[in-house]
Amino acid sequence: MKQRVALLGSTGSIGVQTLDIVRENPDRFEVVTLTANHRWEELAHQAIEFDADSVVIADERYYEPLREALADYPVKVYAGEDAVAQCAAASNIDVVVNALVGYAGLIPTVRAIEQGKKIALANKETLVVGGEVVMELAMRHRAPIIPIDSEHSAIFQCLIGERSPLERLIITCSGGSLRDLPREALASVTPEQALRHPQWSMGAKITIDSSTLVNKGFEVIEARWLFGVEAERISVIQHPQSIVHSMVEFKDGAIKAQLGTPDMRVPISFALMYPERAERKCENFSFADNPTLTFAEVDRVKYPALDIAYDCLRRGGTAACTMNGANEVAVAAFLAKQCGYLDIVRSIEYALQKATFVAHPTLADYAEADRESRELVRNLLKIK
Ligand code: NDP
Ligand code: MG
Repeated sequence: MKQRVALLGSTGSIGVQTLDIVRENPDRFEVVTLTANHRWEELAHQAIEFDADSVVIADERYYEPLREALADYPVKVYAGEDAVAQCAAASNIDVVVNALVGYAGLIPTVRAIEQGKKIALANKETLVVGGEVVMELAMRHRAPIIPIDSEHSAIFQCLIGERSPLERLIITCSGGSLRDLPREALASVTPEQALRHPQWSMGAKITIDSSTLVNKGFEVIEARWLFGVEAERISVIQHPQSIVHSMVEFKDGAIKAQLGTPDMRVPISFALMYPERAERKCENFSFADNPTLTFAEVDRVKYPALDIAYDCLRRGGTAACTMNGANEVAVAAFLAKQCGYLDIVRSIEYALQKATFVAHPTLADYAEADRESRELVRNLLKIK
């Protein structure tokens, strides 16, 4: 039987690579629903190629052109954020690939979990914002969440077959696009510079998050909730070659790592096919051509965002949600050249100081914390 797939965020970096995996395995997957935010033309092309049953455009302004583009095809066309969440929860779906970016990913994940769907999760913000509530819900509804994020996929792969408690998770970190720049030079960094990632080609937001190490902080939070490991047992190590995707240390001193050429289609296919693996045509990795794998401590003065994320984990409640909302607004402002590079972390610190803190949040509290944080940062940066 084919797995029936809802791919949320099909026009993005993870979305397009997920469709590569579907294209390589036509006997295993059937695309039922595809969603995008505003890139309606690309969405229409994908729907035609994959013979999708339905498409959703989250930004309702693009509903009409999308509907017209698909008028001659038997594709149902919907619009709006609620429709994205409804499609994730529909009865004709077996697996939801959540490749949305940002807070927008939370509610679709929740709705899919409530229907007991399998979730292949790229949208780390789901767990940053509401990890505690989301994981509790997933346990209750027996909805498996398989990570797509490469570090978490690596850890997941290292844990298969293990029964004993682990000592430590070791998350590797490339250091992002600005790793070779001295700290003093950060103030004048432009979006173009920060968007040039040395190893990975990804969406704009995560590329900026990688350069500030907000992304690595978010991955610590994501790991805490996915694997039920306290912050004290999660460490981060800089590994510029991005060959070791992450590691697990056990209590007997053994360390397992997952390695390979950086390619997100490996964790994407693993999340979709687990417990099997894809048969993909790849060049064999050459250790001889990659003889040097190096590791170094992260510069925590240059990258304060990592410790801010650890602090948010220790505080719990709505703290990480506030950090995420502030970051989303500040990154968008930086990309639009409405603020400087250092304003990103400054905005996060400001929001965390000023925001209301709720210790035991509900989904409604997360929504309010997100709204408040965004408003605080918009006021700070004097943007609309
Ligand atoms: P992109 O920005 O490339 O794609 C995001 C997708 O979500 C697009 O399809 C976009 O539509 C859609 N979208 C954006 N905003 C909204 C919204 N408000 N409502 C509904 N849909 C929306 O992101 P990435 O693919 O890079 O990242 C996706 C997620 O995966 C992120 O959480 C990221 O952290 C995570 N991730 C990504 C990796 C990568 O290699 N890219 C690696 C590890 C994790 P449109 O195209 O129309 O704007
Ligand atoms: Mg990652």
